[in-house]
Amino acid sequence: MKEAVPLRVLVVEDHGLLRTQIVALLRDAGHDVEEASDGRLGLQMALEQPPDVLVLDLGLPGLDGVQLCRALRESAPAHVPVLMLTARDSLDDKAQGFAAGADDYLVKPFASEELLWRCRALSRRHRLGQPHVLALGELRLDRARGRAERADQTLDLPPIAYQLLLHLAQAWPRVVTRSELVRSVWGDEPPESDPLRSHLYVLRQTLDKPFATPMLKTVHGVGYTLDLPRG
Ligand code: CA
Repeated sequence: MKEAVPLRVLVVEDHGLLRTQIVALLRDAGHDVEEASDGRLGLQMALEQPPDVLVLDLGLPGLDGVQLCRALRESAPAHVPVLMLTARDSLDDKAQGFAAGADDYLVKPFASEELLWRCRALSRRHRLGQPHVLALGELRLDRARGRAERADQTLDLPPIAYQLLLHLAQAWPRVVTRSELVRSVWGDEPPESDPLRSHLYVLRQTLDKPFATPMLKTVHGVGYTLDLPRG
């Protein structure tokens, strides 16, 4: 099926067959696709002509996905949405990817439809030209550096707590369900039965405890949102 709005997608993947398949899939869907097989060339292409979505493999020669993402965040004039492809491996790699500024990730092997859907969702969420900084009330998230501030005080958040806050901020004012939050960090493979509890605790301690009013709000029976002034 052709897409209503074609995207410019850059695919950086060193595995030749997988790259060919991804490129063909995206082209069949009507997207305008460029490709690179190593990190350095990928970074150069992404900087020269920033794509609507960068599909980026984590394990790459030259410059790996995390290094590429970090360099891109430091040098690109606008936020380039990054979909990181990771092998079926440790949580540490995913956390690293997010820390370096990836917006979403997909664990290999993935379904074709899932890749197309994630690319569409990413481009909608981050239109090209959107600034790095997301400011909501007294909360400020610098997506280029993976840093958060509340009322001008830096919040020292570990990667997963930061990712949870970023997801809540990007979804605001919508209430985010527990399962959506879990998926935003771990995809379909949460590491334990209640993975959110300890990370939400850390987030509350850092985001809310030093301040007079709590920002992380539990909506009982539904999920979580940020309590921020509207308008
Ligand atoms: Ca690879």
